Amino acid sequence: MKLTENFSINEFIISDTAKKHNIDNRPSVEVVGNLKALCEHILQPLRNYLKCPVVITSGYRCKALNEAVGGACNSQHLNGQAADFVCPAKSLTEVFKWIKNNLIFDQLLYERSGSACWIHISYRNDGKNRKQAIDNYIV
Ligand SMILES: [Zn+2]
Repeated sequence: MKLTENFSINEFIISDTAKKHNIDNRPSVEVVGNLKALCEHILQPLRNYLKCPVVITSGYRCKALNEAVGGACNSQHLNGQAADFVCPAKSLTEVFKWIKNNLIFDQLLYERSGSACWIHISYRNDGKNRKQAIDNYIV
């Protein structure tokens, strides 16, 4: 199922960790609505600007999956409000800056763990978006 032109629901729910641990990561209708809002307000506008792939590395996480990957217990991944992604063809630093300067978001984190880095972005459908941006978030 497509959420927006360049994003489909599968990109946000398929997880190697879920497969490995036999975790059922199917989203509720509410979660799908949140993922759609995240795509409409953040990821698709970003994709339209970049004109190159935005690769989702972690989207929705049910409670069991969130625990399996060591996510925070109040993580916005739990309700489909957040996604982690990389843009292999672009500088993530530039992507971070563009989002910060051009979009409304709840939380924008440039996350690092060892030598890996990615962007965590979240969006709230209720309008209570904090526009909190942290450019060096060590996981
Ligand atoms: Zn995240």
